[in-house]
Amino acid sequence: MSTPQPSQTRTNNAPELQQIVDAIRGRRRFVVSSHSRPDGDSIGSQLAMAYALRAIGKEVRVINADPAPPPLMAFPGVPAIEIAARVDGELDAAIIMECGELTRTGVAGLDRFFVINIDHHPGNTRYGQINWFDAGAAACGEMVFDLVRALDAPLSLEVATHVYLAILTDTGSFHYSSISPRTFDICRQTLEAGVDPVLVARNVYDSNNMGRLKLFGAVLSAMQIDPTGRIAIVYLDHEMARAAGGTYEDTEGLINLPLTVKEIQAIVFFKQVEGDQYRVSMRSKGDIDVGAVAKEFGGGGHKNAAGCTVTGAIDALQKVFLEKIEQAIELRDSRIVGMQK
Ligand code: 5GP
Ligand code: MN
Repeated sequence: MSTPQPSQTRTNNAPELQQIVDAIRGRRRFVVSSHSRPDGDSIGSQLAMAYALRAIGKEVRVINADPAPPPLMAFPGVPAIEIAARVDGELDAAIIMECGELTRTGVAGLDRFFVINIDHHPGNTRYGQINWFDAGAAACGEMVFDLVRALDAPLSLEVATHVYLAILTDTGSFHYSSISPRTFDICRQTLEAGVDPVLVARNVYDSNNMGRLKLFGAVLSAMQIDPTGRIAIVYLDHEMARAAGGTYEDTEGLINLPLTVKEIQAIVFFKQVEGDQYRVSMRSKGDIDVGAVAKEFGGGGHKNAAGCTVTGAIDALQKVFLEKIEQAIELRDSRIVGMQK
């Protein structure tokens, strides 16, 4: 167990919140978008927002560049999300959630509208006409919850389910240090609104197919551990995925498994995009800041979950990321007095 840390308790009295409420009340037609390759926080935040806006009489389109991860298709409204590289037609405002830069949506044309930017990622570029940024939120879904309340929209089962989905997934099922007392206060209210946490967890985490399980096996069999035993390196290319009978989408969640080993403090996952280009995902425990590592390579994210895209020879890339993560662990160690995190 780690030493208890004083938790930051988030409040919901940001001035931007009232500005967003006013901006929404004065408009009718909305598009809701998030970053490309959306995750649980993207989908949960978007659909909680969409259901709440519709409940107060607004027209809403939900548009993403890429489909939701397959397990999330079981949640209300997810199969109806429009997948498109651009937004056509006339609308009054775009609400972008969970997205550090407008271009990361992968959806062109959003900048034609009044842009409301709601995010909790450090490094958000404040691309909106209103920018509400709260690094203290464990998930963007927490901020959406505050907004739903501020709009006096009902906390329907659909809204509550998506808020809970966002929080469950973006805290790595309550593993990351971004959790505050408010996180649980919001979850409590979603449960009171009827959310079944067992059903949500089963749908998110226990809906594997055989291809996915075999792919996990292949990737984990090839996992390497650094000489100190603290960092796991995993790798996947198109050939491995084909041979295992799985797809790239099937790797969602795989990255969290090595961290279940007590000694492993951090993981870096290289996924081939094409040729020498790789998507890099990192996860860490406690105060090891992989977000700072991702930033050095032009990416971003949070302290415990971050990513970037890099190009180069895989051996050299693995070596350089290993060095950077080792430095991040050393930095953490130099700050720790007392128990190991
Ligand atoms: P994942 O490893 O699941 O792709 O991403 C983990 C976290 O890092 C997410 O919060 C995601 O938004 C962020 N992230 C991943 N890749 C990038 C990137 O290329 N740029 C930025 N700014 N953030 C990223
Ligand atoms: Mn998030």
